[in-house]
Amino acid sequence: MCSIIGYLGLNEAAPIIVKGLKRMEYRGYDSVGVATFSNDQIMVRKGVGRVIEVNKTVKLEELSGNVGIGHTRWATHGMVTDTNAHPHPSSTGEVAIVHNGIIENHEELKNDLQKNGYSFRSQTDSEVIANLLQYHYDKTRNIKQAIVDTVAVLKGDYAFVAVFEDGTLAAARFHEPLIIGIGKKGYFISSDVLGFVEHADDVIYLDNKEFVIIRPSGIQIFDFEANPVQHQITKVSKEFADVYKGEYAHFTLKEISEQPLTIPKSGDNTKLELDLAADFIRHAKAVYITGSGTSYNSALVAKFLFAKYAKIKIEPIISSEAHFSPDVFEQQSILVALSQSGESADVLEAVKIAQNSGAKIISIVNIMTSSLAQMSSIAVGLGCGPEIGVAATKSFTSQLAILYKIVEKICGGCMGLDLSEVAETVRKELSDDSKSKIKEIAKRLKNVSDIYILGRGIHYPIALESSLKLKELTYIHAEGLPGGELKHGPLALMDSNTHVIMINPDDSTYSDTLTSAREIKARGAKVIGISDKPSDVYDYWIELPRIEESMYPFVEIIPIQLLAYYAAVEKDTDPDYPRNLAKSVTVK
Ligand code: GLU
Repeated sequence: MCSIIGYLGLNEAAPIIVKGLKRMEYRGYDSVGVATFSNDQIMVRKGVGRVIEVNKTVKLEELSGNVGIGHTRWATHGMVTDTNAHPHPSSTGEVAIVHNGIIENHEELKNDLQKNGYSFRSQTDSEVIANLLQYHYDKTRNIKQAIVDTVAVLKGDYAFVAVFEDGTLAAARFHEPLIIGIGKKGYFISSDVLGFVEHADDVIYLDNKEFVIIRPSGIQIFDFEANPVQHQITKVSKEFADVYKGEYAHFTLKEISEQPLTIPKSGDNTKLELDLAADFIRHAKAVYITGSGTSYNSALVAKFLFAKYAKIKIEPIISSEAHFSPDVFEQQSILVALSQSGESADVLEAVKIAQNSGAKIISIVNIMTSSLAQMSSIAVGLGCGPEIGVAATKSFTSQLAILYKIVEKICGGCMGLDLSEVAETVRKELSDDSKSKIKEIAKRLKNVSDIYILGRGIHYPIALESSLKLKELTYIHAEGLPGGELKHGPLALMDSNTHVIMINPDDSTYSDTLTSAREIKARGAKVIGISDKPSDVYDYWIELPRIEESMYPFVEIIPIQLLAYYAAVEKDTDPDYPRNLAKSVTVK
């Protein structure tokens, strides 16, 4: 959930680490800290808040030394306080660590360590790693052995980076990402290539259950049983260099605006895999599809598409629920797993459950080096470039584009899929004129406490995705509903304080949804119509451009993404970093 980074090289470590942390802040941002090694000692500075704020108050960048570690936290154990922020030194201060993940047996380990005289300052699970390393290091004064002995007893999912009292940097990975960067002026170890992208092109992707020891003389990689491991050095994909906001006020707006470019390119780098995916699905005995959050909403759209056009029944499963219904997966079935990061713990868990039942995995994923891509028989790449804004925008439409492409292949071109036409239509929706109309409506949402979004058929998953965007970006209570369900309960909630968004394109759902709009209006609620046809029932009308009926989902979500973004700006919340959320949800 968070980001961890380490540097050892010729330059001052702290400014490089702080810059890397700013880049990776989308992964976790409730607190931040840096530790460096200089003059035979480890120094730690940390605090609650965003990198820029904490750097201003405690001057992270001014720590001296050519070796250091850094962290942005997304708290799982212990409140968001200065003390709980990472790095955590061991009780003697000879080791300090930063940690991503959860140590499940931390209480038991802490009790044992306390009995052996090691003390604790924080309420985090992470601090046991520092004291455990110290405990084993005290026994042998051998860093490699200390790591082997430490990882042998840790339970849970984790990646950590440690700095030792002799200036050695070390890091280990168990089900959380960790990437080594090799630059001209130093070595990096980071959760994400964004941590060092401007300093190093050469990278090594550590495998699960491996650790690395980094010294000025070079790097050594071992597995958890202490055997040396050889790795290929690969080049960082250049697309990662594109991580600046440019002219845009926020990454979220930039990423919304990129969709005319990203939609038609979706899956282009993995064309062969796309063909294979279509083939696997065509011949599978049963097909399931899983994801969390936005990815699950894509899965729901897929259910409609596959049924209507490919005549294949696929069953969507919320990833976090797979654990509770492991028997659904059959032998010779396919699980399509959707995740932007490919590190979402719930999705990985669903994949493991399906694999244990003999299912094959097709993943649709943005990060091709992720755990999910590696666990899959076929990995199709979104190819939409890094998505920094925590709320998924362009990755959603790229997921849709790939699902549409697969369906189109299976049904032999029955939809007449033309993603360039979709892209052109989306471009019109992003014109200055359209944006300023949506901005005006967003102003009216500023003080609204409840928004309902209604859609029928394939538009219902878009209503769900719309409610997710509104919740994430504006913190307004928002609920997506199938239009017909209104009279079975939610109508009781309608009054003059309620706003209802009707997703109402001119297709077979149109007249029923218009009737719902009238029922809502009659109870005094305000109605926002998203439709290609005007109506007197709408208090506000967001005009949808005309497009081939099957393509409506693409063009429906764009105005909602903009509406949620502008309402967030109106409310003065940070659209890129919604409170309590993280981009890559690597904990269960
Ligand atoms: N579990 C650790 C904590 O709560 C690390 C969380 C993270 O990955 O940021 O401090």
